[in-house]
Amino acid sequence: MRPSRLAPATRGLLPALRASALLLGLPAAAVAQNTSAQPAQPKKTAATPLEASIDKLATHPTVVAAMRQIQSDNAWTLDQQASICQIPAPPFKEEARAAAYRDRMKALGIQNVRLDSEGNVIGEIKGTGPGPTLLLAGHLDTVFPEGTDVTVKREGTKLIGPGIGDDCRGLAVVLSVARQIITQKIPFGGRLLVVGNVGEEGPGNLRGTRALFKGPLKDSIDLFISVDGTGFGITNGGVGSNRYRVHYKGPGGHSYGAFGMPNPIHAMGRAIAKIADLEATTKPKVTFNVGIISGGTSVNSIPFEGIMEIDLRSESASALAEIDARLQKALRAAITEEKARWPQSKAALDLVIDTIGIRPAGMTPDTSLIVRTSLAAARTMNVYTPLTTSSTDANVPMNLGRPAVTLDGGGVGRGAHSLDESYDDRTDGYKGPQWVMLVVLGLLGVK
Ligand SMILES: [Zn+2]
Repeated sequence: MRPSRLAPATRGLLPALRASALLLGLPAAAVAQNTSAQPAQPKKTAATPLEASIDKLATHPTVVAAMRQIQSDNAWTLDQQASICQIPAPPFKEEARAAAYRDRMKALGIQNVRLDSEGNVIGEIKGTGPGPTLLLAGHLDTVFPEGTDVTVKREGTKLIGPGIGDDCRGLAVVLSVARQIITQKIPFGGRLLVVGNVGEEGPGNLRGTRALFKGPLKDSIDLFISVDGTGFGITNGGVGSNRYRVHYKGPGGHSYGAFGMPNPIHAMGRAIAKIADLEATTKPKVTFNVGIISGGTSVNSIPFEGIMEIDLRSESASALAEIDARLQKALRAAITEEKARWPQSKAALDLVIDTIGIRPAGMTPDTSLIVRTSLAAARTMNVYTPLTTSSTDANVPMNLGRPAVTLDGGGVGRGAHSLDESYDDRTDGYKGPQWVMLVVLGLLGVK
């Protein structure tokens, strides 16, 4: 997921916005009411060559038509978002939503639509000339288990339902962009791969994106953009995480009768104390957390097992490896200390570490073309786009050194991963797909 963020305050640049909209040949209404999702990003006096080229791109007749059509077809985009979201897609059970997404992609005229062996839906739009291959994806999976009521309610401009922002918004934005590129016959270069991928959320452990970068396409993906979350952020830092389920095990016994043997929960307590005292840097940011503990059978039994789940994170792969090494040392030291506490006991005390998930860390530099193009397109549209660090599908290509970002899909989101998750389109949600399209076309190039 991309955690949603609250919009910063509007800065009152409406006259400038309207003027620039006219200059760009965009409908003034497209930026007339900048009251909700994003404040204006003040324009620099002189545009860089890249910024100037994106400004120019936004005046290309087919691009202007596509931008307008995204706005006038906003209800269609919202219908896609709501109806996709009413198809359950629990982790590892994305098939029904994948089939529906495949059918919608086919209906739009996207070519060669297929499912890969992992369950990702993949289609292509071929450009009219040479150029890079850009993969544009939204993720199909949600965090919600089977049986969750996924009915979407509408209240004015607001859609409410599990997964409505994360990532039904992304899935709808991807369709909206693909639809206009096809309908307006935009003469772009290269190839656009359109993807609905599985396995982004926690238990999925990025399995969909990993498969994309291991499968037949692995060497041909030059640029990767996932649309995930709401608002107008650019994620170019991929937070890596290592997650473990750790078991301390012993024979167990009566708390009075068998007293004098190592206690797995006591050993786990020693480990937790060591974890709690780990050093955590802020640059790069490193975090650790024991999130779940369980074990034991009764108050008067030495337990045969103590279990805990641990999450380590960092945007730096080396910092993550370093804290992981210290964690492993602490887990083992706790065993040694608990055994040493009861030297006369012959009872075994064992440590079993299960890996729940490893998400690779990575970073697409601020100076990369994909980040600068994303920023330039936002500047052309007068929307404010912070650069952020998060854990998304883009982690996989970032870790492989491929240019990758995750872009937000516009609008205002609340309560991601909760049952009352909401997405508010307000007056200008359409700017999300407009922005994503401009970034995509800026990277692929338009004749
Ligand atoms: Zn997400």
